[in-house]
Amino acid sequence: MKKNIMLFAVMVLVMSACAAPAVADQNQTEVDLSQAEGVDDLAESTELVSGESEVSDPAAAEGYGPGEETHQATIAALSNTELSTSELEGIAFMREEEKLARDVYIQLADLWNMNIFANISRSEDTHMEAVKTLIDLFEFEDPVQDNGVGVFTNPVLQDLHDELMASGSMSLADALLVGGAIEEIDILDLQKYLDQTSNSAVIEVYENLLRGSINHLNSFVRNYERQTGETYQPQFLSQEEFQEFLSLSSASNSAERRGMKVSLNGKGQARQ
Ligand code: ZN
Ligand code: ZN
Repeated sequence: MKKNIMLFAVMVLVMSACAAPAVADQNQTEVDLSQAEGVDDLAESTELVSGESEVSDPAAAEGYGPGEETHQATIAALSNTELSTSELEGIAFMREEEKLARDVYIQLADLWNMNIFANISRSEDTHMEAVKTLIDLFEFEDPVQDNGVGVFTNPVLQDLHDELMASGSMSLADALLVGGAIEEIDILDLQKYLDQTSNSAVIEVYENLLRGSINHLNSFVRNYERQTGETYQPQFLSQEEFQEFLSLSSASNSAERRGMKVSLNGKGQARQ
């Protein structure tokens, strides 16, 4: 990975999004995480987000069985709180960071014609939509607007996108490393923003995105190693964090096959 990508990524990790939240007139409270389910990666298992919701407000769930309606009612009930500026900035930032992942994978899919990029780009599209539901829920301005592929409101993410595309265009191995880098950055940013919020709706979306990112990282790592015969070295995570996430991903995938739910982060559970 080139040094300037490291630099941009560090900037991404330390900066807060600069978009000032503005009041919009939408009042959509529909949250549909179910779309985020079931993207199958032909190369590897990349089950991304479970789409499962844990109902923590019994009143909101009363009269409903488990399912999407309960989920939406719960989200609506839980969102009835003011968010801090840093929480709003985090949501705006994650909205464009998920777009960055989607846009880079769309372009790398065209360049290298490898299934993993097309499959994961579709998954990132559902991640973008999941963050958009928070923007609609809390009624502030969407930084994506009608920006096309490769266009970003946040200049730091624009620069990161351009650098990642320059690197990912060099070779298939570099492209797979770019995929790994994006997922590692995503994991670190999601962890950072999870630490900064106590809103259950935001936590639920972020934890789902985090599960997806860990599975995506696992897929890029295995594809890189198969393609090059070399061992993937973590680019932003510590070796310890990296090993922990990969083992969580494997545990989560095998547990899901047995119909169990594995928590990757105790935070949401502690609030139940
Ligand atoms: Zn994502
Ligand atoms: Zn991802």
